[in-house]
Amino acid sequence: MKKNWTKLLALSMSFTLTGCGTASPPAAESSAAVETTVQATEAAGTEASGNGPAPVEQVWSPVDENGQTKRDDREGTGENGVVTSANVYASQAGLKVLEEGGNAVDAAIAVSYALGVVEPQASGLGGGGFMLVHTADGDDSFIDYREVAPAAQDAYSWLDENGEVKNGGTANSRGGLAIGVPGEVAGMEYARENFGSGKVTRQQIMQPAIDLATQGYLVSTYQSQQINDHYGDMTGDYPVLGSYYLREDGLPYQNGDVLRNPDLAKSLQMIATNGAEVFYTGEIADAIIAEIEKYEGLMTKEDLANYKVNMREPVRSTYRGYKIISCPPPSSGGTHLIEILNVLENYDVGSMEVNSPEYAHLFSETFKAAFADRAAYMGDTDFIDNVPLVGLTNKDYAKTISDKITDQCQKWQEGDPKAYEGNSTTSFSVADKEGNIVTVTQTIECSFGSAVAVPEYGFILNDQMHDFSTDPESVNCVEGGKHPLSSMSPTVVLNEDGTPFMTLGTPGGVRIFPTVAQVISRVIDSKMSLQEAITNARIFDNGTDDGICYELGAPGGVDEETVKALEAMGHTMTAKGEWDMFFGGVQGVIYMDDGTLVGAADPRRDGKALGY
Ligand code: GLU
Repeated sequence: MKKNWTKLLALSMSFTLTGCGTASPPAAESSAAVETTVQATEAAGTEASGNGPAPVEQVWSPVDENGQTKRDDREGTGENGVVTSANVYASQAGLKVLEEGGNAVDAAIAVSYALGVVEPQASGLGGGGFMLVHTADGDDSFIDYREVAPAAQDAYSWLDENGEVKNGGTANSRGGLAIGVPGEVAGMEYARENFGSGKVTRQQIMQPAIDLATQGYLVSTYQSQQINDHYGDMTGDYPVLGSYYLREDGLPYQNGDVLRNPDLAKSLQMIATNGAEVFYTGEIADAIIAEIEKYEGLMTKEDLANYKVNMREPVRSTYRGYKIISCPPPSSGGTHLIEILNVLENYDVGSMEVNSPEYAHLFSETFKAAFADRAAYMGDTDFIDNVPLVGLTNKDYAKTISDKITDQCQKWQEGDPKAYEGNSTTSFSVADKEGNIVTVTQTIECSFGSAVAVPEYGFILNDQMHDFSTDPESVNCVEGGKHPLSSMSPTVVLNEDGTPFMTLGTPGGVRIFPTVAQVISRVIDSKMSLQEAITNARIFDNGTDDGICYELGAPGGVDEETVKALEAMGHTMTAKGEWDMFFGGVQGVIYMDDGTLVGAADPRRDGKALGY
């Protein structure tokens, strides 16, 4: 582990937002949203601020003059660096810290805290994640700040006498039993102390987030929809959440409204002043436990006090000569990303038209094989001894999968990776022109997490326990202190000679590693620009009855003829929505041959890259 490595200059960030929220019918009608947005964007800092302080200036809006999410203008180019995240305010926060002399880790921490304010449904103080740091001199360090199960919780805590998940099947995703011990604050402090430049203070790094929470920011159409979708929770069992994300008139914040969260500003300032202790053993810890107890959770103050960050060895492989460095357990993401790429390597993917029948069939079969292995083998390696990581990432093992792929749709069982043993929401990446890269994915799991928010402290607690299996026999069953299995896959891709090529990551639950695989293949095999590879329509298949899920709206998608051809091969075809968040929200940075860094951001959400 190294301190003071070369200043990092480019930063790309994407944060996970889940497809697993309990949606309630929208109850809010639009205020004068369109006019408000345009005026507020132009007038940020002046009269649009309503009764409070002027909102933080926004240099770009994700919303057009009709109040619709823009689907273009997401790239940002820089000679020195790029910051790309799931929200322009967070990208601005990262740039500010770089300009003040921080390195990319410092900037990444600023982005992380800012996202907790402006994209609170996706990540924040009550969540956790993974950070991969690759330095220009070839060192890789992986920081695991994933949530863990409370010590008193086991595989049966949320099951009723019939073995069903309590509360109508929601006890693992809403309320106290869904909440894992949060890791974000510990992770950010660990990263700052061990990898930060030491040239900027914790206060400087956190100030942009504090300003956003204090002064406020403009709500987008996308975020307003997210709040709308959780209106039922907010007006029902989770009124504290509602106190933060419903307006004084009781309606969801609308596009163009200014949202402020002074309670969150207070918590952030307490951390800036006192460090992680105040969160894990001090005043904030007391408030967290008091609220969790109201929702019948089992987390204790000891659980918070005992939370530890882990350093882990990343998983590595190659894809057509490029070096892949990605997320190890407790994420399944990097391992299965490599497994998928290893299978694809046996095919001339570049000669196939993206989302043609042949292409979609190959990706579908490959994804299903990986998901069968995931279900059989993947869990927290701190608790499970025999996770066959070497076999799952072995190219000969992948060949056994490609040998089984035919021209027909198949049901897949797990393979035998152990025979080849011989021998990783929101996501952000940081890279500079010297070749230093940091990539992070972090989450509170479902949109708005467990829906339990900490009163007077302004943040939402995760429902990361939802990533455990509810089957007590599963390798991924709940045990006290165990990490729930993740799919997050913050990834670095290097050229054959070890120089940097690209970094990327995405939210999207179990769609994460299939999405990362599609984007990598589109850039390497199909020669698309990174932005094009991100923007174009994606597919997904994890072997369930939905078969191949395909996206509408986005360019280059599966067309009607292709649907028919795939059905003829035996595939069930399920159309998802237009620009569907189901397929994630990728942010990444690519190094161009002339040394320019190009950041790209996903038009399915509010992401924006800014370069300098
Ligand atoms: N909790 C999920 C994971 O760790 C991410 C949630 C999402 O991206 O929707 O894989």
